[in-house]
Amino acid sequence: MEITEKAPAKLNLYLDTPFQHSNGDFEWEMVMTTVDLADYIHIETLPDYDQIIVQTDSGFLPCDHRNLTYQAAKKIKQHFSISVGLKISIQKNIPVAAGMGGGSADAAAVLRALNKLWKLGLSLQKLANFGLSLDSDVPFCVYSQPALVTGKGEIITPLNELPAMWFIIAKPPASVSTPFILKQVDHQKLHHQNIEQLVTGIKSQDFKQITSNMSNVLEPITAKRYPEISRIKNKMLQFGTSAALMSGTGPTVYGVCEKYSRASRVYNSLRGFCEEVYLVKPVSLNDEKGALKNDLV
Ligand code: ATP
Repeated sequence: MEITEKAPAKLNLYLDTPFQHSNGDFEWEMVMTTVDLADYIHIETLPDYDQIIVQTDSGFLPCDHRNLTYQAAKKIKQHFSISVGLKISIQKNIPVAAGMGGGSADAAAVLRALNKLWKLGLSLQKLANFGLSLDSDVPFCVYSQPALVTGKGEIITPLNELPAMWFIIAKPPASVSTPFILKQVDHQKLHHQNIEQLVTGIKSQDFKQITSNMSNVLEPITAKRYPEISRIKNKMLQFGTSAALMSGTGPTVYGVCEKYSRASRVYNSLRGFCEEVYLVKPVSLNDEKGALKNDLV
Protein backbone atom coordinates (compact mmCIF):
# COMPACT_ATOMS: atom_id res chain seq x y z
CA MET A 1 0.00 0.00 0.00
CA GLU A 2 1.16 3.52 -0.60
CA ILE A 3 -0.03 7.08 -0.11
CA THR A 4 1.16 10.62 -0.86
CA GLU A 5 0.30 13.50 1.46
CA LYS A 6 0.86 17.20 0.94
CA ALA A 7 2.70 19.01 3.77
CA PRO A 8 2.19 22.79 3.43
CA ALA A 9 4.51 25.33 5.08
CA LYS A 10 3.19 27.71 7.73
CA LEU A 11 3.60 31.43 8.27
CA ASN A 12 3.06 33.22 11.56
CA LEU A 13 0.78 36.22 11.20
CA TYR A 14 1.20 36.68 14.93
CA LEU A 15 3.62 35.20 17.44
CA ASP A 16 3.83 36.06 21.12
CA THR A 17 4.82 34.27 24.29
CA PRO A 18 3.14 35.56 27.46
CA PHE A 19 5.35 33.43 29.77
CA GLN A 20 7.56 30.38 30.11
CA HIS A 21 6.62 27.35 32.23
CA SER A 22 8.99 26.26 35.03
CA ASN A 23 10.04 23.20 32.95
CA GLY A 24 11.23 25.55 30.17
CA ASP A 25 8.26 25.05 27.83
CA PHE A 26 6.94 28.25 26.28
CA GLU A 27 3.34 29.36 26.48
CA TRP A 28 2.36 30.61 23.01
CA GLU A 29 -0.17 32.95 21.47
CA MET A 30 -0.01 32.58 17.71
CA VAL A 31 -2.07 33.03 14.58
CA MET A 32 -0.83 30.90 11.73
CA THR A 33 -1.82 30.05 8.20
CA THR A 34 -0.60 27.41 5.80
CA VAL A 35 0.59 28.52 2.37
CA ASP A 36 0.89 26.91 -1.02
CA LEU A 37 4.55 25.99 -0.68
CA ALA A 38 4.66 22.36 0.31
CA ASP A 39 6.70 19.21 0.77
CA TYR A 40 5.23 15.92 -0.46
CA ILE A 41 5.47 12.84 1.70
CA HIS A 42 5.20 9.48 0.00
CA ILE A 43 4.76 6.46 2.25
CA GLU A 44 5.05 2.85 1.15
CA THR A 45 4.43 -0.11 3.43
CA LEU A 46 7.07 -2.86 3.62
CA PRO A 47 5.18 -5.95 4.84
CA ASP A 48 8.20 -8.16 5.58
CA TYR A 49 10.49 -5.56 7.13
CA ASP A 50 9.51 -4.00 10.45
CA GLN A 51 11.70 -0.87 10.16
CA ILE A 52 11.20 2.76 9.18
CA ILE A 53 13.34 4.00 6.30
CA VAL A 54 13.46 7.73 5.55
CA GLN A 55 14.81 9.14 2.31
CA THR A 56 14.79 12.68 0.92
CA ASP A 57 15.94 14.70 -2.07
CA SER A 58 17.36 17.36 0.31
CA GLY A 59 20.99 17.21 1.36
CA PHE A 60 20.27 19.16 4.55
CA LEU A 61 18.18 16.64 6.45
CA PRO A 62 19.01 13.74 8.75
CA CYS A 63 17.38 10.53 7.48
CA ASP A 64 17.50 8.59 10.75
CA HIS A 65 15.59 8.74 14.07
CA ARG A 66 16.24 12.53 14.17
CA ASN A 67 13.91 13.11 11.25
CA LEU A 68 10.51 14.21 12.53
CA THR A 69 8.75 11.98 9.99
CA TYR A 70 10.53 8.96 11.49
CA GLN A 71 9.44 10.00 14.98
CA ALA A 72 5.83 10.56 13.88
CA ALA A 73 5.66 7.16 12.17
CA LYS A 74 7.25 5.40 15.16
CA LYS A 75 4.70 6.93 17.53
CA ILE A 76 1.75 5.63 15.51
CA LYS A 77 3.32 2.22 14.90
CA GLN A 78 4.10 1.74 18.60
CA HIS A 79 0.78 3.04 19.88
CA PHE A 80 -1.23 0.71 17.61
CA SER A 81 1.33 -2.14 17.74
CA ILE A 82 1.56 -2.27 13.95
CA SER A 83 4.55 -4.37 12.93
CA VAL A 84 4.79 -3.35 9.31
CA GLY A 85 7.79 -1.52 7.84
CA LEU A 86 7.54 1.87 6.17
CA LYS A 87 9.54 3.66 3.51
CA ILE A 88 9.01 7.44 3.85
CA SER A 89 10.19 9.59 0.94
CA ILE A 90 10.29 13.35 1.48
CA GLN A 91 10.17 15.65 -1.54
CA LYS A 92 11.53 18.79 0.13
CA ASN A 93 10.38 22.17 -1.18
CA ILE A 94 10.06 24.09 2.12
CA PRO A 95 13.33 25.79 3.12
CA VAL A 96 14.94 23.99 6.11
CA ALA A 97 15.41 25.76 9.48
CA ALA A 98 13.66 28.82 8.07
CA GLY A 99 10.78 29.45 10.48
CA MET A 100 8.25 27.91 8.09
CA GLY A 101 7.67 24.74 10.09
CA GLY A 102 8.95 22.35 7.44
CA GLY A 103 9.81 19.52 9.84
CA SER A 104 6.49 19.90 11.66
CA ALA A 105 4.57 19.96 8.37
CA ASP A 106 6.26 16.71 7.31
CA ALA A 107 5.57 15.03 10.66
CA ALA A 108 1.92 16.13 10.57
CA ALA A 109 1.58 14.80 7.02
CA VAL A 110 2.87 11.40 8.20
CA LEU A 111 0.28 11.35 10.99
CA ARG A 112 -2.55 12.18 8.58
CA ALA A 113 -1.29 9.73 5.97
CA LEU A 114 -0.95 6.76 8.36
CA ASN A 115 -4.40 7.55 9.77
CA LYS A 116 -5.79 7.11 6.24
CA LEU A 117 -3.54 4.25 5.18
CA TRP A 118 -4.31 2.09 8.23
CA LYS A 119 -7.92 3.36 8.60
CA LEU A 120 -7.31 4.32 12.23
CA GLY A 121 -10.27 6.70 12.34
CA LEU A 122 -8.47 9.28 14.50
CA SER A 123 -9.86 12.83 14.62
CA LEU A 124 -7.58 15.76 13.80
CA GLN A 125 -7.62 16.55 17.53
CA LYS A 126 -6.31 13.05 18.38
CA LEU A 127 -3.64 13.26 15.67
CA ALA A 128 -2.62 16.68 16.98
CA ASN A 129 -2.17 15.16 20.46
CA PHE A 130 0.18 12.55 18.98
CA GLY A 131 2.16 15.37 17.35
CA LEU A 132 2.65 17.74 20.27
CA SER A 133 5.59 15.83 21.78
CA LEU A 134 7.44 16.03 18.43
CA ASP A 135 7.34 19.83 18.05
CA SER A 136 5.01 22.59 19.25
CA ASP A 137 4.04 23.39 15.61
CA VAL A 138 2.93 19.84 14.73
CA PRO A 139 -0.65 20.16 16.13
CA PHE A 140 -1.24 23.24 13.97
CA CYS A 141 0.25 21.49 10.95
CA VAL A 142 -2.10 18.53 11.48
CA TYR A 143 -5.02 20.95 10.95
CA SER A 144 -3.23 23.02 8.24
CA GLN A 145 -5.78 25.81 8.13
CA PRO A 146 -5.79 29.37 9.53
CA ALA A 147 -5.94 29.05 13.32
CA LEU A 148 -5.36 30.65 16.66
CA VAL A 149 -2.78 28.51 18.47
CA THR A 150 -2.33 28.75 22.24
CA GLY A 151 -1.05 26.75 25.21
CA LYS A 152 2.15 24.88 24.36
CA GLY A 153 0.92 24.66 20.78
CA GLU A 154 -1.80 22.10 21.44
CA ILE A 155 -4.86 24.37 21.67
CA ILE A 156 -5.97 24.91 18.09
CA THR A 157 -8.93 27.18 17.39
CA PRO A 158 -9.65 27.11 13.65
CA LEU A 159 -10.43 30.51 12.11
CA ASN A 160 -12.10 31.48 8.84
CA GLU A 161 -10.18 31.22 5.61
CA LEU A 162 -8.14 34.36 5.00
CA PRO A 163 -9.53 36.94 2.56
CA ALA A 164 -7.83 37.11 -0.84
CA MET A 165 -4.15 37.93 -0.33
CA TRP A 166 -0.70 37.04 -1.63
CA PHE A 167 2.50 36.38 0.27
CA ILE A 168 5.94 37.21 -1.07
CA ILE A 169 8.28 35.02 0.94
CA ALA A 170 12.02 35.71 1.12
CA LYS A 171 14.43 33.29 2.76
CA PRO A 172 17.81 34.92 3.51
CA PRO A 173 20.79 32.57 3.22
CA ALA A 174 20.99 31.71 6.94
CA SER A 175 19.68 28.77 8.94
CA VAL A 176 18.37 29.79 12.33
CA SER A 177 18.40 27.45 15.31
CA THR A 178 15.06 27.72 17.11
CA PRO A 179 16.51 26.71 20.54
CA PHE A 180 19.27 29.34 20.12
CA ILE A 181 16.72 32.14 19.56
CA LEU A 182 14.37 30.94 22.32
CA LYS A 183 17.26 30.94 24.82
CA GLN A 184 17.58 34.69 24.30
CA VAL A 185 13.95 35.51 25.07
CA ASP A 186 13.64 37.86 28.04
CA HIS A 187 9.94 38.04 28.89
CA GLN A 188 10.40 41.41 30.66
CA LYS A 189 11.54 42.99 27.42
CA LEU A 190 8.99 41.62 24.93
CA HIS A 191 6.76 44.12 23.17
CA HIS A 192 3.27 42.55 23.27
CA GLN A 193 0.52 43.56 20.83
CA ASN A 194 -3.20 42.77 20.90
CA ILE A 195 -3.97 39.45 19.21
CA GLU A 196 -7.74 40.10 19.38
CA GLN A 197 -7.54 42.82 16.73
CA LEU A 198 -5.99 40.37 14.28
CA VAL A 199 -8.45 37.58 15.07
CA THR A 200 -11.37 39.98 14.61
CA GLY A 201 -9.86 41.14 11.33
CA ILE A 202 -9.76 37.54 10.06
CA LYS A 203 -13.32 36.88 11.24
CA SER A 204 -14.57 40.01 9.44
CA GLN A 205 -12.33 39.34 6.38
CA ASP A 206 -10.86 42.82 6.78
CA PHE A 207 -7.54 42.87 4.89
CA LYS A 208 -6.47 46.21 6.39
CA GLN A 209 -7.20 45.17 9.96
CA ILE A 210 -5.25 41.95 9.41
CA THR A 211 -2.16 43.58 7.95
CA SER A 212 -2.05 46.36 10.55
CA ASN A 213 -2.15 43.90 13.47
CA MET A 214 0.44 41.32 12.43
CA SER A 215 3.28 40.98 14.94
CA ASN A 216 6.15 38.70 15.97
CA VAL A 217 7.87 39.34 19.33
CA LEU A 218 10.87 37.25 18.26
CA GLU A 219 11.67 39.39 15.23
CA PRO A 220 13.90 41.92 17.07
CA ILE A 221 15.85 39.05 18.65
CA THR A 222 16.60 37.22 15.39
CA ALA A 223 17.06 40.46 13.42
CA LYS A 224 19.74 41.62 15.86
CA ARG A 225 21.86 38.63 14.86
CA TYR A 226 20.84 38.61 11.18
CA PRO A 227 20.56 42.25 9.98
CA GLU A 228 19.55 40.87 6.58
CA ILE A 229 16.05 40.39 8.01
CA SER A 230 15.43 44.11 8.56
CA ARG A 231 17.02 44.94 5.22
CA ILE A 232 14.67 42.60 3.32
CA LYS A 233 11.66 43.69 5.37
CA ASN A 234 12.33 47.36 4.58
CA LYS A 235 12.75 46.53 0.89
CA MET A 236 9.40 44.73 0.88
CA LEU A 237 7.63 47.72 2.43
CA GLN A 238 9.42 50.08 0.07
CA PHE A 239 8.32 47.96 -2.91
CA GLY A 240 4.70 48.33 -1.78
CA THR A 241 3.63 45.40 0.44
CA SER A 242 0.87 46.29 2.93
CA ALA A 243 2.83 44.61 5.73
CA ALA A 244 6.02 42.62 6.21
CA LEU A 245 6.95 40.28 9.06
CA MET A 246 9.42 37.57 10.07
CA SER A 247 7.88 34.11 10.42
CA GLY A 248 8.53 31.92 13.49
CA THR A 249 12.08 32.25 14.76
CA GLY A 250 13.16 33.36 11.27
CA PRO A 251 15.02 34.11 9.18
CA THR A 252 12.18 33.93 6.60
CA VAL A 253 10.49 37.28 6.02
CA TYR A 254 7.27 37.69 4.10
CA GLY A 255 5.31 40.61 2.69
CA VAL A 256 1.55 40.73 2.13
CA CYS A 257 -0.33 42.22 -0.84
CA GLU A 258 -4.05 42.18 -1.55
CA LYS A 259 -3.72 42.16 -5.35
CA TYR A 260 -1.74 39.72 -7.48
CA SER A 261 -0.48 42.48 -9.80
CA ARG A 262 1.28 44.28 -6.97
CA ALA A 263 2.50 41.04 -5.37
CA SER A 264 4.09 39.93 -8.62
CA ARG A 265 5.84 43.32 -9.03
CA VAL A 266 7.24 43.04 -5.49
CA TYR A 267 8.28 39.43 -6.18
CA ASN A 268 10.21 40.45 -9.30
CA SER A 269 11.88 43.43 -7.60
CA LEU A 270 12.91 41.37 -4.59
CA ARG A 271 14.66 38.74 -6.64
CA GLY A 272 17.48 41.23 -7.12
CA PHE A 273 18.02 41.34 -3.34
CA CYS A 274 17.42 37.80 -2.18
CA GLU A 275 18.17 34.54 -3.97
CA GLU A 276 15.30 32.53 -2.54
CA VAL A 277 11.92 34.23 -3.11
CA TYR A 278 8.44 32.67 -3.46
CA LEU A 279 5.06 34.09 -4.40
CA VAL A 280 2.24 32.08 -2.82
CA LYS A 281 -1.37 32.19 -1.65
CA PRO A 282 -2.74 30.99 1.67
CA VAL A 283 -3.91 27.39 1.37
CA SER A 284 -5.92 25.23 3.68
CA LEU A 285 -6.32 21.48 3.91
CA ASN A 286 -10.07 22.13 3.65
CA ASP A 287 -9.80 23.55 0.11
CA GLU A 288 -7.66 20.64 -0.97
CA LYS A 289 -9.93 17.67 -0.40
CA GLY A 290 -10.27 16.90 -4.10
CA ALA A 291 -6.86 18.18 -5.07
CA LEU A 292 -4.74 16.27 -2.56
CA LYS A 293 -2.99 13.27 -4.00
CA ASN A 294 -3.81 10.75 -1.32
CA ASP A 295 -4.96 7.73 -3.25
CA LEU A 296 -4.50 4.35 -1.69
CA VAL A 297 -2.95 1.94 -4.13
P1 ATP B 1 10.82 25.07 14.12
O1 ATP B 1 9.48 24.36 14.03
O2 ATP B 1 11.77 24.40 15.07
O3 ATP B 1 10.70 26.55 14.30
P2 ATP B 1 11.80 25.61 11.43
O4 ATP B 1 10.55 25.81 10.69
O5 ATP B 1 12.59 26.83 11.70
O6 ATP B 1 11.52 24.80 12.74
P3 ATP B 1 12.57 23.12 10.15
O7 ATP B 1 12.72 23.17 8.67
O8 ATP B 1 11.40 22.42 10.71
O9 ATP B 1 12.73 24.60 10.68
O10 ATP B 1 13.93 22.48 10.71
C1 ATP B 1 14.25 22.51 12.08
C2 ATP B 1 15.19 21.35 12.39
O11 ATP B 1 14.44 20.14 12.32
C3 ATP B 1 16.36 21.21 11.43
O12 ATP B 1 17.54 21.24 12.18
C4 ATP B 1 16.18 19.85 10.79
O13 ATP B 1 17.40 19.13 10.67
C5 ATP B 1 15.23 19.11 11.72
N1 ATP B 1 14.32 18.20 10.99
C6 ATP B 1 13.98 16.96 11.33
N2 ATP B 1 13.13 16.41 10.44
C7 ATP B 1 12.91 17.33 9.49
C8 ATP B 1 12.13 17.35 8.32
N3 ATP B 1 11.40 16.30 7.92
N4 ATP B 1 12.12 18.48 7.60
C9 ATP B 1 12.84 19.57 8.01
N5 ATP B 1 13.62 19.59 9.11
C10 ATP B 1 13.65 18.48 9.86
